[in-house]
Amino acid sequence: MNRPKRGGRQDATVEKSLTDKDTKPKLNHFDILSNVKDRIEYKTPFVDTHCHWPLTMEAYMRKTNDFQRMDAYEFIRDVFGGKVSGIINIHCEAPLSSTWKEMADSSFWSEIGMSYGFACGLHPHHSKDWNDQLESSLLEAMKHPRCVAWGECGLDYHYDHSPRDVQREIFERQLKLAVSLGKPIVVHTREAEEDTEDIIKRCVPKDHKVHVHCFTDSPSFAARLLDHFPNLYIGVTGVVTYASNQNTSQVIRELTGLKRILLETDSPFMTPNNLKGKRPSVCHSAMIPWTAQFVSKILDVDTEEVLRVTRQNALDFYGI
Ligand SMILES: [Zn+2]
Ligand SMILES: [Zn+2]
Repeated sequence: MNRPKRGGRQDATVEKSLTDKDTKPKLNHFDILSNVKDRIEYKTPFVDTHCHWPLTMEAYMRKTNDFQRMDAYEFIRDVFGGKVSGIINIHCEAPLSSTWKEMADSSFWSEIGMSYGFACGLHPHHSKDWNDQLESSLLEAMKHPRCVAWGECGLDYHYDHSPRDVQREIFERQLKLAVSLGKPIVVHTREAEEDTEDIIKRCVPKDHKVHVHCFTDSPSFAARLLDHFPNLYIGVTGVVTYASNQNTSQVIRELTGLKRILLETDSPFMTPNNLKGKRPSVCHSAMIPWTAQFVSKILDVDTEEVLRVTRQNALDFYGI
């Protein structure tokens, strides 16, 4: 894990940070949201089904003063404790960082009673960086018992950071590998509806598990995917709260209800807009309840019900 340097303690082990009795004030779940006016009371613990932990920690260290003295494990223990019951951490860059193994092998998760799963693949932005070495590192990581999915992989025609033909080729290759291993698939698709639908329907069996994460594309596209793949879920991030995005709300209202969605942050991106007051600048897993609250208003149910059903969806899909 990226462990930011803190004078003299950058080599501290997880065990040491867990037993450290120094006098640093502990942050709790809400301290980190201390400028937020609308707090949400809830009892149901939740899983963040899609976050980028090393990136999130780096972003905090870069953008805020509050976390200069914490390492990533301390942050998770003190800020998420008792609320975030699990996370799925995504590694999707090239080359694959060895942090996947450090985090997956750590005893930290069971010591604090939190579930941990990870997925790895190559993000469409980096498709041009695919090579044999990356493929073998991904296949090696897939054998780890905490590896719960392949991804994120897919097509992104909004940014076009890799040529589209290369994106398509590498997406198809990853889907075939994931299917051959029986791994659930995390799909990133943006403004590439026709090609995503064509490739995924050709390469993935109907009953395979698919999480189309951070969905923002058209409801008709969502409907076609949901109809074709009975085990496909729509990933809902804080982007559902953005005025510029009506698609996700419409998909939830008209197509999925609570049954076919997974709540995720995609942290450090997509801070929910309904965090009123001075919004924390970097998104993290403990912000899921604000997304849940927004979803509860779309469906006219209470926030607790949203957290309860989506918690079960995460368990059914990822087993954590
Ligand atoms: Zn993505
Ligand atoms: Zn992501």
